[in-house]
Amino acid sequence: MSLLSRPDRPRSRAISFVYNIDNDKQIVHLRSLVKQGKIAQWESVIAADFSWNKLTFGMSQCEFSFMVNAMHNLLPTPDNLRLWGKTQVDLGCSLCSKSNCTLLHVLNHCPFALSQRRFTWRHDSVLRLLNWAVLKCVDAANKQTPRTWPPPIEESFIRAGESRSKSTTKLEDSLLSHANDWRVIVDLPEKNWRAMIPVEILSTLQKPDIVMWSRSTRTMIFLELTCPFEENITSAAKYKLGRYEKLVCRVRARGWQCHLLTLEVGSRGFVGASCSRALTQLGWRSSKSTILGRIGDIARRCSYVIWLHRKNKTWSPISVYGEEESDLG
Ligand SMILES: [Zn+2]
Repeated sequence: MSLLSRPDRPRSRAISFVYNIDNDKQIVHLRSLVKQGKIAQWESVIAADFSWNKLTFGMSQCEFSFMVNAMHNLLPTPDNLRLWGKTQVDLGCSLCSKSNCTLLHVLNHCPFALSQRRFTWRHDSVLRLLNWAVLKCVDAANKQTPRTWPPPIEESFIRAGESRSKSTTKLEDSLLSHANDWRVIVDLPEKNWRAMIPVEILSTLQKPDIVMWSRSTRTMIFLELTCPFEENITSAAKYKLGRYEKLVCRVRARGWQCHLLTLEVGSRGFVGASCSRALTQLGWRSSKSTILGRIGDIARRCSYVIWLHRKNKTWSPISVYGEEESDLG
């Protein structure tokens, strides 16, 4: 650490003070902007990777342009074209003819696109990658000796000069670490389309996106993924918690522990903090920023395809995975 960067140095404190004033001014200004200011309302979204490496090599120029303009709601949607004076009439949605067609409508709400399962395709594309990550966590847990609870008393003590390793801490805190008989089903068309909670545990028609259970510890975990507009991430999480509340209570009433983890990935590729929390709870031990970045990339790439097809009434889903996800199909 250089001397100038030490927090006890006057120059460092002065730079920090001025930076904070400037930062506050920028935030106040951003909030005052009608369109660009919406981004200041995004709650529960983790910081995206805007490094040069990512922007230069991680996406095409068209995709980059889509990302930046979608982020600030500056894409040529019918409502924006009218606002900018490019047209005097309300063009409406090209698919369902809804008037005052916004980016929210194109990417998340259009009933025509919904009926063609365009949004389901995006959801399943993200879910496929998420399921891959979950299976990694389950494989790791199933190869371990289950941790007992409470942990052995000797683990509470650390020898002089030693420190608790991070990997041990993560495993200890994981929801999966107390069993090694985890089973997983996922609601993906190519896997278990009819996958449901095992009927001997509970009879229900509800199907969370991913269901994990351990018979030895009588523990069940539900993962429910949503890809809402970024402004709606918090409300989407509340909706899903309410939707599955009774199911969780029914599982608990049968003597099982039950955890419901909601995960939100914004349709413009900004990942909700809930995804990071869920991966931590499941004991994800590789780089979290890498997997979260890939999840966000898939959501944004799918939305870009949906955007490109906004005037096209025919639809056939394509694979949006890159080389790094080639094993996902
Ligand atoms: Zn529409």
